[in-house]
Amino acid sequence: MAKKKAIKQSWAEPFKIKVVEPIKMTDRKHREKCAKEAGYNTFLLKSADVYIDLLTDSGTNAMSDYQWAGMMLGDEAYAGSKNFYHLWDNVKKYYGMPYFVPTHQGRAAEHMISKILIKEGDYIPGNMYFTTTRLHQELAGGTFVDVIIDEAHDPASEHPFKGNIDLKKLEKLVKEVGAKKIPYVSMAGPVNMAGGQPFSMKNLQEVRDFTKKHKIKLWFDATRACENAFFVKEREKGYQDKTIAQILKEMCKYFDGLWVSAKKDLLVNIGGFLATRDRKVYQEARNMVVVYEGLHTYGGLAGRDMEAMARGIEEMVEYENIRMRVKQVEYAGMQLAKYKIPMVQPYGGHAIFLDAKKFLRHIPQDQFPAQTLASEIYIDSGVRGMERGIVSAGRDPETGENRKPKLELVRLTFPRRVYTQSHIDVMVESIASVYEERKSIKGLKFVYEPKYLRFFQGKFEKL
Ligand SMILES: *Cc1c(COP(=O)(O)O)cnc(C)c1O
Repeated sequence: MAKKKAIKQSWAEPFKIKVVEPIKMTDRKHREKCAKEAGYNTFLLKSADVYIDLLTDSGTNAMSDYQWAGMMLGDEAYAGSKNFYHLWDNVKKYYGMPYFVPTHQGRAAEHMISKILIKEGDYIPGNMYFTTTRLHQELAGGTFVDVIIDEAHDPASEHPFKGNIDLKKLEKLVKEVGAKKIPYVSMAGPVNMAGGQPFSMKNLQEVRDFTKKHKIKLWFDATRACENAFFVKEREKGYQDKTIAQILKEMCKYFDGLWVSAKKDLLVNIGGFLATRDRKVYQEARNMVVVYEGLHTYGGLAGRDMEAMARGIEEMVEYENIRMRVKQVEYAGMQLAKYKIPMVQPYGGHAIFLDAKKFLRHIPQDQFPAQTLASEIYIDSGVRGMERGIVSAGRDPETGENRKPKLELVRLTFPRRVYTQSHIDVMVESIASVYEERKSIKGLKFVYEPKYLRFFQGKFEKL
């Protein structure tokens, strides 16, 4: 019996391919030109010039035949679309939240919740920042405070739950500013900026107890909640026999409300929502959505998009689906490890994060090593990743200085159900060859720096 187990190690995609989208391999000279024109910012490349696109897993998912069939059932009524009610039913069923407002994507929900809950001078603790989340908190007059455990800032730490909140840090903040100045704790999982690292159910329970004691609300960035649930199932005692749907439901039970970018877990190309058990917040959000998004029964989405989301929720909790996703990332990590490529450990849920500080040791942080590495990988093979380091971190709104994050990373993010193992092999070999040539690579300097979220549109020049 034991022998049999050892042979059967492989997993395979729980689907077969019905429609294909051709992609084009370009030559190095062309890519050098493209990279230069894009100001060495992979966000500014044209998709047609990209071979394997690992820029983001946001909205890049392949939908199933079940979802596509649902698109034909779009009820494009201005008010009260059937698809809205199907989606609302599934939000209740799977997230356990009674109230729900659709939005065109995740940041629209972040905008609303920040405006509703934050007053000028408030503090919002969170398990590491996320770009759009923090920006909306700041625009609403709040200050984000990072209360994630120290291990999250150490790419070499093998802590299984690097997304956990450090209760001592949270307690210190409450003592310093008082609970009245903290409208809510903002918890995300897995934590994108830490390298796709999950929080544990135990940590969540402790955070809930603490916040309850101090009458602070607890809100959930549930954008990748199913990935977090998968890690809980794999790594936390007592959850092995629970389904992803059961774990997700249990997780959501501890929160007052949540927001979601449907472009991730929900296996669609556009969409988002806010859901809560707090009737007052719901009423405000329901009113606010008509100002910024559209009527509360479509929130900036077509009926067909809401149907694809409703069906995506049913698929996202399927074990085989989520396992394939996480195992594909793990496979990429294991292959890269064979070439001793410096990476964040353990491998994240949705992406591999290269440690650019170690990869390009000779480039100081203010010459943007991660930005440089992302563009070098593109030039080498047409594989597109993105910077997650000093450029993404932006400037301190008070001092105007560059924020210098400990993590200087290149993220290679895997769209759901899009690429095969052979695409990953090509990516791995490209990164390994850039690693061999690393000493000849030079850093970058800004030539154009936008005020907000500068990583999206900033331009650079080679030093
Ligand atoms: C993508 C994302 C968001 C923002 O959602 P958009 O749909 O891109 O507006 C917020 N939080 C997390 C964790 C995300 O990954």
